[in-house]
Amino acid sequence: MAKIDKCPKSKVNAGYCTCTYSSCPRHGLCCECLHYHRHRNEIPACYFSAEEEKTYNRSIEFYCQRRTKQA
Ligand code: SF4
Repeated sequence: MAKIDKCPKSKVNAGYCTCTYSSCPRHGLCCECLHYHRHRNEIPACYFSAEEEKTYNRSIEFYCQRRTKQA
């Protein structure tokens, strides 16, 4: 049985997943997604706007930069 099928929340989670990186095996497995990105000093795709998410830059620096930039 695939890991995704063992998680009782995977279908609900997938409904909230905004990540467009389609080949990632962690879609719907939020705990693994979080651990993966935290280990890399990053945050998951769902924290970013649709425009930001498309860059695949998941860094904390990018996230903060986009939210502290003033016109
Ligand atoms: S945010 Fe990262 S770990 Fe989560 S589904 Fe997208 S590529 Fe995979």
